[in-house]
Amino acid sequence: MDAAVPSFAYVRSPDQDQARPARRPNVVVGAGPVGLSVAVDLAQSGQDVVVLDDDGALATGSRAICFAQRTLDIFDRLGCGERMVDKGVGWQVGQVFVQSDLAYRFDLQPEDGHHRPAFINLQQYYVEAFLLDRGRALPALDLRWRNRVMALALAQDGDGVTLTIDTPDGEYALLADHVVAADGARSPIRTMMGLDSKGRVFRDRFLIADVRMTAPFPNERLFWFDPPFHPGQSVLLHKQPDDIWRIDFQLGWDADPALERQPERVLPRVRALLGADTPFTLEWVSVYTFACQRMERFRHGRVLFAGDAAHGVSPFGARGANGGVQDAENLAWKLRLVVQGRAPDALLDSYAAEREFAADENIRQSTRSTDFITPKSAVSRVFRDAVLELARSHPFARRLVNSGRLSTPSMLANSPLNTPDEDPFDGGLPPGAPCTDAPVRVAGRDGWFLAHVGGGFVAVTFGPADAQDDIAVVQIGPGAVEDSTGLLARRLDAQPGTTYLVRPDQHVCARWRRFDPARIRAAIARATSC
Ligand SMILES: Cc1cc2nc3c(=O)[nH]c(=O)nc-3n(C[C@H](O)[C@H](O)[C@H](O)COP(=O)(O)OP(=O)(O)OC[C@H]3O[C@@H](n4cnc5c(N)ncnc54)[C@H](O)[C@@H]3O)c2cc1C
Repeated sequence: MDAAVPSFAYVRSPDQDQARPARRPNVVVGAGPVGLSVAVDLAQSGQDVVVLDDDGALATGSRAICFAQRTLDIFDRLGCGERMVDKGVGWQVGQVFVQSDLAYRFDLQPEDGHHRPAFINLQQYYVEAFLLDRGRALPALDLRWRNRVMALALAQDGDGVTLTIDTPDGEYALLADHVVAADGARSPIRTMMGLDSKGRVFRDRFLIADVRMTAPFPNERLFWFDPPFHPGQSVLLHKQPDDIWRIDFQLGWDADPALERQPERVLPRVRALLGADTPFTLEWVSVYTFACQRMERFRHGRVLFAGDAAHGVSPFGARGANGGVQDAENLAWKLRLVVQGRAPDALLDSYAAEREFAADENIRQSTRSTDFITPKSAVSRVFRDAVLELARSHPFARRLVNSGRLSTPSMLANSPLNTPDEDPFDGGLPPGAPCTDAPVRVAGRDGWFLAHVGGGFVAVTFGPADAQDDIAVVQIGPGAVEDSTGLLARRLDAQPGTTYLVRPDQHVCARWRRFDPARIRAAIARATSC
């Protein structure tokens, strides 16, 4: 797929012909991976959702490529995970070199029994295209291209948000009960509301070269500190689909971005890495700087910020889109329950609290990685170089080599939505943890546990359960969902009777050693009443 080609026509909406602004329960601004994920999640549960995007195309250029297992589990629930994995390049091993020597090798999925790989590499425009295809199949999703939000005003009585939208046919207004601002790092909505995002801009520049080639490199993440082909700087190499390879060259702060984008500067750098005999063509070149920052609060009344609009990280660790898709799924079920009147408005505060916490973790990890890769003080450079030197011969130092701690799912351990453990557990998944997958067998057919968890509140029990009208139950055992390898019981520290309560975003919110409907009801009430 050529990133520049797919484009979508503007279609006039009947809302543009209304004398008074039409009212919509959910309006998402931005059709990037985060906005599309929220919208698909809402629409597949029957919630009407309007998506406004100022553009008429998928992500252009080279942006996110690494999508983590947790994100793939979410995409599975959204009905498009299979396509992502089929197209993407799966990987789990990374190698870190210091100069020419291998310093460190890691395996992100050392144990079998996972439906999805640790990571896939897939161009962001494919991710958006597959989400978009899924969205098109959902009648409740109304996507409007070339609809630019120009202004936003809270109704005087607080009863909704009025959006002023510019289109090729001129302006119109829309009244929204809730607005999801997924309008990217520069977030015009943030600016319109007089808000900002604070943090650190890193004083370094990176050249991204996407090259097309057939190459003998392994299907792994390769990272070099100070390699002979790019001395004094770092280089990262990833394989993408369609024989495209992503190469990140660290350039230093003094590099001139306009100059460094020129083919006569880029080609020798690529040739130095690949060798003179490897044929390749340049597909995309850009020069980036990075910032780690976030908004102080992700909720401002009826406006909920998500994805890059709410927080930004450096790409080392692949936490941007991966973190944003986790925002999306955290928000979608809460919005749904609030709009349906099944939960109080305060549940949306928990979206902000949980995802601000997650953003802090992502920013902390991303900042540490970036500080290690691009040390900015003499002291941190001495430390970094000493670690790299030691890592050559001393295994203990290899743990300290930080070429990017890759995206991991958020552990919402302190969420007020959790019911703390009362029964003893020795491991397993504590409240706040995302549910793990494992192989299962149902009616003689092999499958995966998470497919049975679905997208509502579900009690997963390893024991007998009396049918309850108001509690969805997944029973693990013979004749039901069979734990075919024993891995599920091991991963959940389950004994006969053990029961987990899983929320609609597949995070655990309570667990007990027996199935007790009263305690399950109380835990659901707690998870929906904050
Ligand atoms: C070089 C690079 C590499 C990266 N690698 C990774 C990676 O490997 N893994 C990873 O997880 N992340 C990665 N990221 C980060 C990732 O690209 C972003 O986190 C992701 O795009 C954020 O998605 P989003 O939906 O929040 O915003 P965006 O993708 O920016 O989408 C915002 C949308 O809002 C629309 N919009 C803006 N203003 C308006 C308006 N006024 N009205 C209507 N619509 C509007 C825009 O047109 C756009 O479609 C990388 C980023 C870069 C730059």
